[in-house]
Amino acid sequence: MADAVRQSDSGAAVNADRRHRIVIVGGGAGGLELATRLGDKLGRRGKAEVTLIDKARAHLWKPLLHEIAAGSMDLGHHELDYLAQAHWHHFRYRTGEMIGLNRSGREVLVGPVVEDNGTEVTPARGYPYDILVLAIGSLTNDFGTPGVAEHAICLETPEQAARFHSRLVNACLRAQNQNEPLRPGQLQVAIIGAGATGVELAAELHKSTRELVAFGLDRIDPDRDITLHVIEAAERILPALPPRIATAAADLLRGLGVKVYTAARVAAVLPNGVELTDGRIINAELVVWAAGVKAPGFLHNLDGLETNAINQLVVRQTLQCTRDDDIFAIGDCAACPWPERKTVVPPRAQAAHQQSTHLARQLPRKLAGQPLAPWRYRDFGSLVSLGEYSTVGSLMGKLVGRSLFVEGYFARLMYVSLYKMHEYALHGFVKVALDTAVRLINRRTEPQVKLH
Ligand SMILES: Cc1cc2nc3c(=O)[nH]c(=O)nc-3n(C[C@H](O)[C@H](O)[C@H](O)COP(=O)(O)OP(=O)(O)OC[C@H]3O[C@@H](n4cnc5c(N)ncnc54)[C@H](O)[C@@H]3O)c2cc1C
Repeated sequence: MADAVRQSDSGAAVNADRRHRIVIVGGGAGGLELATRLGDKLGRRGKAEVTLIDKARAHLWKPLLHEIAAGSMDLGHHELDYLAQAHWHHFRYRTGEMIGLNRSGREVLVGPVVEDNGTEVTPARGYPYDILVLAIGSLTNDFGTPGVAEHAICLETPEQAARFHSRLVNACLRAQNQNEPLRPGQLQVAIIGAGATGVELAAELHKSTRELVAFGLDRIDPDRDITLHVIEAAERILPALPPRIATAAADLLRGLGVKVYTAARVAAVLPNGVELTDGRIINAELVVWAAGVKAPGFLHNLDGLETNAINQLVVRQTLQCTRDDDIFAIGDCAACPWPERKTVVPPRAQAAHQQSTHLARQLPRKLAGQPLAPWRYRDFGSLVSLGEYSTVGSLMGKLVGRSLFVEGYFARLMYVSLYKMHEYALHGFVKVALDTAVRLINRRTEPQVKLH
């Protein structure tokens, strides 16, 4: 791959004054917060040149993807242009997909950006760094299950979530306009994986399909015609969360008429449904794969950096890679020890947020030649949004001193506050307050579900 990357980024001219070059790859929950903070802290004062590289042009906080997929949230209201954020917060944004690394030459290798018609937008190039932070997130892990790539939709990107929503609307329009009765599986959605993503998506879909149908699709009776199936290989849904949360969520889903299958292993995804290992077939028009994550494959053996079985970069408590002091990894692509639990930190937005806050304080220390403080994960608990029906979860750690089951309005408030903290890190108080007010007004004046 390195041969494909010849041209060096023209930012070299800016480096003539020997400013430190901090390159962050991946502008997600962790990377964009870090680029913003470092831009404000170091870029603004000319103390370092901060560059963010992302293959996408706009940022969307990933935990919103299930709401985009269900249509209960409009992508356009929540996307943030990288170019604009970079301009406002004194860092540089460069578009492109990282495809490799040259550690001896201290260069990140980025592939060319090419338009749909084949015209090149930006060439393959190398970006020199003094400090590199990898924050490229994770992908869905299909564990090699046949048919997933061909017949299931994963929720990894805003484009995939929007594609699912478009197919959902098309499915409803098709059913509305056909004369013959619904065929088996028609208007049925199978969600594979009952972690937080699968459970939240099921609740969100239950609500949004009813709202969609209420806009004049009078030949569809949601209770009779629309079925949601949630399929989980473990003995219970939400296997990573405390049993009480799982029980509350399962009761609520069953109460809504969602079909919940536990201890059900998927053998294959078919063109019109899902086959379980016990031979059962679940007919479905739409299949979502929401089970398991892994880091992108190119991280495996990335110029000698240590990775684990799911391609995450193994880092120390300082978030430095085990084999390179100048390369850091944060968020889902990093395997960071969690000594208190004798495991690694889970792939969560709250972990990415805490890590970026930590690095925003530590990287200026590194530039000044001072020792780095270790990072410790503070688990504030887990919250699962069941759309407008409820929110359940547990709060823990220093906040309450022990694990505390929470439900309803208070839990909803805590859930929403996680996104607000992310927005606050990107925009500050005034803009978050104004944006929140505008969205509240829009919810009064626009349909509560996206209709196309
Ligand atoms: C539907 C859903 C719901 C979730 N709900 C919750 C929740 O309620 N609470 C919670 O704590 N967590 C939740 N999560 C998990 C959370 O979204 C992730 O843990 C978090 O986004 C990880 O942040 P990150 O910065 O590591 O990566 P991401 O936020 O995924 O960002 C990665 C960025 O890297 C870019 N990128 C990837 N590869 C490359 C490359 N090769 N070159 C250049 N750029 C690249 C991507 O475009 C993206 O912008 C949810 C996840 C999903 C999918």
